[in-house]
Amino acid sequence: MLVLGVETSCDETGLAVYHTERGLLAHGLYSQVAVHAEYGGVVPELASRDHVRKILPLIREVMADANCSAADIDGIAYTAGPGLVGALMVGASVGRALAYAWDVPAVGVHHMEGHLLAPMLEDSPPEFPFVALLVSGGHTQLVSVASIGRYQLLGESLDDAAGEAFDKAAKMLDLDYPGGPHIARLAERGTPGRFSFPRPMVDRPGLDFSFSGLKTYTLNTVAKYAGADGLPDEQTSADIACAFQEAVVSTLVIKCRRALEATGLKRLVIAGGVSANTRLRAELERALGKIGAEMFYARHEFCTDNGAMIAYAGAQRLAAGQRESLAVNVRPRWPLDTLPPLDVSTSA
Ligand code: ATP
Ligand code: MG
Ligand code: FE
Repeated sequence: MLVLGVETSCDETGLAVYHTERGLLAHGLYSQVAVHAEYGGVVPELASRDHVRKILPLIREVMADANCSAADIDGIAYTAGPGLVGALMVGASVGRALAYAWDVPAVGVHHMEGHLLAPMLEDSPPEFPFVALLVSGGHTQLVSVASIGRYQLLGESLDDAAGEAFDKAAKMLDLDYPGGPHIARLAERGTPGRFSFPRPMVDRPGLDFSFSGLKTYTLNTVAKYAGADGLPDEQTSADIACAFQEAVVSTLVIKCRRALEATGLKRLVIAGGVSANTRLRAELERALGKIGAEMFYARHEFCTDNGAMIAYAGAQRLAAGQRESLAVNVRPRWPLDTLPPLDVSTSA
C-alpha cells in the first residue's frame, strides 16, 4: 500500500511517500523558521498562509522523487491534530480533497502518534510494548505503549513542555527560535558545575513534570549576571545554558527510569524535537545501561516535525481499515489516549 503523508500542524510543511512493504520512498520538508524568526515564535496566521503557498509544490516534488503518480497512491494520511487550527486545516483540506479526487481513502493522524512511531522508520525499530517519552515543543509526556493505538498516559508536564522551556531559555539569552539546538550548542562551551539549577519535582513520587520553576530560576540567573546590554558575558551565558540543559536532562532521565521501573518494561522510545538532544541521549543511554533497558529514537530529521512519521502512522491505520468520512475535521486539542486501537476499525 502506497501512502502520501501530509504534515502541517505548526510551522513545518512536511510531505512523504511511504510504502507498507518497500518503506519510505521519499520525503520533503519546508520549514517556516525564517518566516517567524523576527517574531520570536510561530505566528499562526502566517503559518497557515505559508502552508497554502508551499503544500502543492512540495507534494509534486516528493511524488516525483518517489517516482510515483496520482494513480499509484492507495491512500492519504494527514495530521488532523493537535496543533494550530488554521495550519491543520490546510493539510487536512488538501489531503481530504486529493483523496476524494483520486478516489482513495483518507485518514486523519494524531501528530503525537506520528512522533511516537517515527523510530519505526529506522533499521532496528523497537518491538512492543515500550515506554515512550514524548518531548516536543508542545508536549512532555510519558506513555505506556502496548501496541499502535493502545496508549496509557503515565505522566505529563503540568505547565511548560520541555521544548518550550528550551525555547524560552534561549529567548532569555537572546538566541534564535527554535532555541533547543542553540542552547545545546552554547552549552557545549559551558563550565559544568558552575551553576546548579533545580531539578523540578524529582523528589516527589509520580511521573509528572514541571518546568516553569526552572524557567524562573533561569530568568533570575540571567538577570543577576546581566551587563549593560541586558545579557551576561559569553562564558556566563554558556554556563547558564549548560546548567539549564543539565537540569532538564536529569529531570527527564530520572522520570524515564522511574517509568520503566514502574511498568517493568525494558524498552524506552524517545520522540519529538527534544529527543534530538545529544546530552539527553547520552545520559539516558548511561542510566538505562544500569537497569538493562534499551533506548530507541528516530534519525535527527525525524525527531522534529516531518511528513514521514505521518505517512507511516497513517499507513498503519489505513492498512487496518480505518477511514475518514468526507468531512474535513481537525482537532486542535486531542488527547492521545482517546485514539482507537489499530485492531478496531472505524470505517465511516
Ligand atoms: P508538538 O509536537 O508538541 O506539537 P512541535 O511540533 O512544535 O510541538 P517538535 O517539532 O517535535 O515540536 O520539536 C520542536 C521543539 O524541539 C522545539 O521546542 C525545539 O527547541 C526543540 N528541539 C529541537 N532540537 C533540539 C535539541 N537538539 N535540544 C533540545 N531541544 C530541541
Ligand atoms: Mg516546528
Ligand atoms: Fe511536533
